[in-house]
Amino acid sequence: MSIFTKIIDGEIPCYKVAEDDNFIAFLDINPNAKGHTLVVPKKEVNKLFDLSKEEYLSLMDFSYRVAKALEKAVPCNRVGQSVIGLEVPHVHVHLIPLNAMADIQFHQKVKLSNDEFVGLAKSIADKFE
Ligand code: 5GP
Repeated sequence: MSIFTKIIDGEIPCYKVAEDDNFIAFLDINPNAKGHTLVVPKKEVNKLFDLSKEEYLSLMDFSYRVAKALEKAVPCNRVGQSVIGLEVPHVHVHLIPLNAMADIQFHQKVKLSNDEFVGLAKSIADKFE
């Protein structure tokens, strides 16, 4: 069972941004930038292109809606999207507010307090449509 399935099942807490029957979005615990969000299918699948085309397109649709909320909630030059999965073998889309190339490179990390995580998650969730 992946760490993200444990989050989906409520065994591990997260700073939730959005959820429906098939997807959940929550803040990355070790963010590249403030507002770095992960969008995760509830069905545990290892690799992005193991998803069916329909599941892939649904994931992109949900990610689009989360990215729109993120753009409104977190001032940035633009929201970047990346799929890697080398650390957690459960499909997830990274949505990252970008101001510089370094923000997408997974080297530079920002430390946030619990209150900052809670505030960010709420401000993104409030904009989610
Ligand atoms: P990837 O698998 O795409 O290389 O990276 C996995 C991402 O998941 C990383 O950015 C890492 O910070 C994040 N991550 C790993 N474990 C947890 C967790 O328990 N909670 C949250 N919110 N994020 C996690």
